[in-house]
Amino acid sequence: MQSILVVGGAGYIGSHMLSHLQNAGYQPIVLDNLSTGHRDAVINAELIVGDMGDAALLDQLFQQHRFSAVMHFAGCIEVQESVTHPLKYYKNNVAATMTLLEKMQQYDVNHLIFSSTAAVYGEPQTALITEKHPLNPVNPYGRSKLMVEQIIKDMSEQGILKYAILRYFNAAGADKKKGMKERHQPETHLIPLILQVAQGIRENITIFGADYPTIDGTCVRDYIHVTDLCEAHLHALIWLLTKKQNVVCNLGVGRGYSVLEVLKVAREITAHSIPMVVSEKRPGDPASLVADPLLAYETWGWKASADLEMMVRDAWEASRELIKNEV
Ligand code: UDP
Repeated sequence: MQSILVVGGAGYIGSHMLSHLQNAGYQPIVLDNLSTGHRDAVINAELIVGDMGDAALLDQLFQQHRFSAVMHFAGCIEVQESVTHPLKYYKNNVAATMTLLEKMQQYDVNHLIFSSTAAVYGEPQTALITEKHPLNPVNPYGRSKLMVEQIIKDMSEQGILKYAILRYFNAAGADKKKGMKERHQPETHLIPLILQVAQGIRENITIFGADYPTIDGTCVRDYIHVTDLCEAHLHALIWLLTKKQNVVCNLGVGRGYSVLEVLKVAREITAHSIPMVVSEKRPGDPASLVADPLLAYETWGWKASADLEMMVRDAWEASRELIKNEV
């Protein structure tokens, strides 16, 4: 059985990935410092608690296991926080990743699947963003991910590794069958925050800006179900291990929803009025980010299948399960 090192495998997307790997016959081994991840999200897999920037720990890990590939999900992901705490982003997302890359090179582990982001594009120049769109990130989060993309490409140029760089749009939803859910502390993401209002945890949802040049003035994002994301990762892994070809690929649905549209869907699903207040724009937020998802389809014959309603419904059911379990 091939072992895959899943860095950040106790986090939202990484932990969802574990069962997809297992079902496909791979053995995931998780490295996570639990700064934002959850121990109980790692199901049926070995968890090593530690930091990807800890060279001595990585020495041990790479000596103990022969990994076929590394899937790198670990990182700080909040746009606003990256604006106020840029060093945290460059340190965790760039510097710590460099240690991981250094150890991959040292131990000759030469397949990498890297979680990048649509934030590397910055303000879109076209309605749908292809992978060829100029890269002008407008916040430190996007810049930190772009820096790592460039480092990975430079290493690959020297024959050190092959990569799949996956640029996520907005991951949402949960695998409710497996009891999985999105749990950020503190929560900053739109759909979980909206659902917290419906659960009575918050009084209202704050809309960050209502005068963007979009259909209703609120920001437009391309939401993609986390299980669709995981499926795409599996395609990327198999592709990398068999074809040994680099790929940089968007992971999105190709359809954008405004914040108000998401709110409308959530009101219908939860049967809650979900009050809102409009506030200032959040620094670093592009008006619209919508993927052109064609390359993923052309490369792997894959496209996302879940719609926004399913994402909100799954997230809603998963969050209610969570509350039930915590009471
Ligand atoms: N958003 C909002 N209120 C919130 C959280 C988010 O209006 O309390 C908006 C945010 O400005 C962005 C969209 O919802 O346009 C998605 O934000 P999220 O933080 O979920 O993901 P991001 O796009 O930043 O990765």
